[in-house]
Amino acid sequence: MTTTTFTNWAGSVTTKPAEFLQPTRIDEIPGIITRSRSVRTVGAGHSFSPVAAGEETMLNLDHLRGLVGVDKQRKRVRFLAGTRLRDVPALLRPYGLALANQGDVDPQSLAGAISTSTHGTGINYTGFAGTVTGLTLIDADGNTRTYSLDEDPDLLHLVVVSIGALGVVVEIEMQCVDAFDLQAEETGIDFDELMDNWEELSRGVDHFESYWFPHTDRAMVKANTRLEPGDERRPRLKQFIDDELIGNGAFAAALALGRWVPAAIPALNRFATAVISHNRYRAPAHEVFVSPRRVRFHEMEYAVPLADGPATVREIRRFIDAQDWRIGFPMELRTTAADDVALSTANGRESMYIAFHIPRVLNPQDYMPKIEPILRAAGGRPHWGKMNTLGREDFAQLYTRFNEFCELREAMDPQWRFGSPYLQKVFG
Ligand SMILES: Cc1cc2nc3c(=O)[nH]c(=O)nc-3n(C[C@H](O)[C@H](O)[C@H](O)COP(=O)(O)OP(=O)(O)OC[C@H]3O[C@@H](n4cnc5c(N)ncnc54)[C@H](O)[C@@H]3O)c2cc1C
Repeated sequence: MTTTTFTNWAGSVTTKPAEFLQPTRIDEIPGIITRSRSVRTVGAGHSFSPVAAGEETMLNLDHLRGLVGVDKQRKRVRFLAGTRLRDVPALLRPYGLALANQGDVDPQSLAGAISTSTHGTGINYTGFAGTVTGLTLIDADGNTRTYSLDEDPDLLHLVVVSIGALGVVVEIEMQCVDAFDLQAEETGIDFDELMDNWEELSRGVDHFESYWFPHTDRAMVKANTRLEPGDERRPRLKQFIDDELIGNGAFAAALALGRWVPAAIPALNRFATAVISHNRYRAPAHEVFVSPRRVRFHEMEYAVPLADGPATVREIRRFIDAQDWRIGFPMELRTTAADDVALSTANGRESMYIAFHIPRVLNPQDYMPKIEPILRAAGGRPHWGKMNTLGREDFAQLYTRFNEFCELREAMDPQWRFGSPYLQKVFG
């Protein structure tokens, strides 16, 4: 047993649990659950909100990683739930398989990613939770419960996105696809052209996303096309220059300058958009989806119905322009397909994801709650792992199966063994 301090990636959540445990076998978990009054499971700690934080027992499955089994014919792969996304490509390579879609970083655990409805971009592709075909968890009584798409799709879809409220997820089966490359095209675009054509641009390529710098009229777009696997690789030196020197190093320097001279931020943003160059490269999918994120920040992200997305972004732009704010971070804009997962942020509707970031040194309370009403007015659903101020009543308006989920949670864990003040606000 070890005590430790848990701090999330952004540094916005810190807690000192009475114990922090890392079981090496699944059969240790029921005993841990039943002797503890309160258990929170944490993956990589990459959530911006206190979803993972606990005060008594915190559990981490870093020693429960890897493959459990592969159904080659159906391309379904069963993983131990602590498997990190960054380890998945090497695990799947011998089978010629890959995850169907990914977000923009990969340190997260599979359980953390599916439990918060983590997503990437692509109008024909869902987030991770939409690709789950089976799941095993240990419940509040220490019993093993198994859910399967083949046996009961409705129940599986109800339990997949749970932010750890139903139990400790120990295995996850995912629908994978044949390994593929991505051809990436990066270029600049005018803000109005981007907003006027968002849906068309999103439908025109497999994976479309954009970064718009507040205080400017320009955005960077990234359009990725899926291709059969080939031998082409992004030259290491070029990748280092793009990702580390430009993506992280120059960005960190600009943010540091903006911190000391906030008035310079609009000019720095304009400079950043002016130097966006046309960039084209091809590589295995995970290398294109994922980029290192070394500059730390706070983030709020909402999913709004696709058709309402551009008007919402424009409204946020008007709001930012009317404030005396200097935002040095770009807003990230993405799109995904609808899915059937009960608490997926894209449940039942094609969605545009609007992500608002500020540097870690700023106080998120000065910004996020002021932008949030615009996203809520558009019927937006907050990312389960990112900042928001919503409670049970709000979520019940946003998800048709929300009360059903709360009833299931109450039946499975009436003592709130997997609870926390944050979860009580959401589900209580
Ligand atoms: C730099 C950065 C980039 C990001 N990029 C994206 C992105 O592109 N797209 C996107 O959608 N999100 C993104 N996120 C958010 C991130 O994907 C989610 O917050 C995700 O949940 C983090 O995974 P994790 O393993 O760190 O989970 P944690 O933050 O540790 O936990 C998240 C939730 O999952 C629960 N959980 C974890 N493991 C288990 C388990 N075994 N059993 C039961 N419950 C469990 C926790 O209790 C908690 O409620 C990003 C975050 C950061 C910091």
